[in-house]
Amino acid sequence: MLDRILGPRRTRQLQRLVHNGKVTLLCLALTVVVLRANLGAGKFGTPEQDFKEIRETFYQYRGKRAEPRRVLEEIETTTEQTTSSGTNNYAEFDIKKLFVDEEDDVKKDPNVPYSIGPKISDWDEQRGEWLKQNPNFNNYVNGNKPRVLLVTGSSPKPCENPVGDHYLLKSIKNKIDYCRIHGIEIFYNMALLDAEMAGFWAKLPLIRKLLLSHPEVEFLWWMDSDAMFTDMAFEIPWERYKDRNLVMHGWNEMVYDQKNWIGLNTGSFLLRNCQWSLDLIDVWAPMGPKGKIREEAGKVLTRELKDRPVFEADDQSAMVWILATQKDRWADKVYLENHYYLHGYWGILVDRYEEFIANYHPGLGDHRWPLVTHFVGCKPCGKFGDYPVERCLKQMDRAFNFGDNQILQMYGFTHKSLASRRVKQIRNDSSNPLEVTDELGLLHPAYKVVKVPSS
Ligand code: UDP
Ligand code: MN
Repeated sequence: MLDRILGPRRTRQLQRLVHNGKVTLLCLALTVVVLRANLGAGKFGTPEQDFKEIRETFYQYRGKRAEPRRVLEEIETTTEQTTSSGTNNYAEFDIKKLFVDEEDDVKKDPNVPYSIGPKISDWDEQRGEWLKQNPNFNNYVNGNKPRVLLVTGSSPKPCENPVGDHYLLKSIKNKIDYCRIHGIEIFYNMALLDAEMAGFWAKLPLIRKLLLSHPEVEFLWWMDSDAMFTDMAFEIPWERYKDRNLVMHGWNEMVYDQKNWIGLNTGSFLLRNCQWSLDLIDVWAPMGPKGKIREEAGKVLTRELKDRPVFEADDQSAMVWILATQKDRWADKVYLENHYYLHGYWGILVDRYEEFIANYHPGLGDHRWPLVTHFVGCKPCGKFGDYPVERCLKQMDRAFNFGDNQILQMYGFTHKSLASRRVKQIRNDSSNPLEVTDELGLLHPAYKVVKVPSS
């Protein structure tokens, strides 16, 4: 039949072609089988995966040929794998083996009252004298901006879930970015300075220690590890607080009138380095020691404060209780801020980021572009939170990317979406890089200018 259509010569040519093709295919198949046997390309995956595996194996072989010492080392580690020194596979390693001296500290005598440190009554004088003696460590930079130390931290142990530490890393990267732009120093603490003050109370001994060790710091800014900056351009209105010693996000009526336990938030606050603050810490700390004291204090707080659930004493409830019951002593130096989000509850902000992007711009710090988004209740480093894990992690990624876009923008990049880790370029590279405009002015912000003294 082919003869009739193509003619005898053409048919023979075609038959030869088909025959040759069969031989070529057979050779190809044999080559793959031999390659697989020799290189151990492993499981049958997609063609793309197979190609990648083969290529990687080739590179590995090439590398080994070029570096004989490496081969020797690798063989040694491979043998080690089966010996007592353990695995070289991180996923298989039991991290608990690293925790030596983890036994509980010696129990304190319950009759000895808790003390956060020796009583200090003349800190303003001591500090004033030090500042006079050390004029190069001025507590105000460039005339009127207070020197600020941002303090944050997390537990000395790895997180109780496998991704927690990744989110801690994102969170500290986010803070480093904000602080670099705003000329603020950072202290990250991972040491439990006082075993009795574990958990949300750990910040108190730490803050006290840092105030006393850094007289040059005018304001200490505590920020939780689960809070992120979402407005990289907003600068704290320092002038507004010139006569205040404590600034927390909150509402006067909710704290002083209603005694509501969520009338303020202790996840992000400013504390001036002065005697008043040490006195406040002295009054704040006694509900903190874990065990009986913290549990009993929790009962008092639940009874005295509005809407507070039953649980051990926490630093936030304790602060509401102190301000509400000792208003005369403290209130005139406390600023409960709600003109912008010194702390912003994630639940009401994160779904609205696209709306903010469409209508507003960084630098506002308020309900149009929040300064801080705080993941209250998510416990990203713990085992259990108050919300579904997937929701918390997705929303934390969105907050991180929202803040990170303001950083990447300076360098001509942006995240592909608020849900994406990947980035895309938003402008072409220029051969005059210094002429590119930095829209938000964050590369060389005015508040970071260092004045050079004229000679
Ligand atoms: N924290 C710490 N060391 C610890 C445990 C907690 O420094 O061992 C800090 C951490 O920065 C954390 C903060 O205490 O963000 C308060 O806890 P969390 O944010 O979980 O409380 P929430 O804001 O959900 O009430
Ligand atoms: Mn928090």
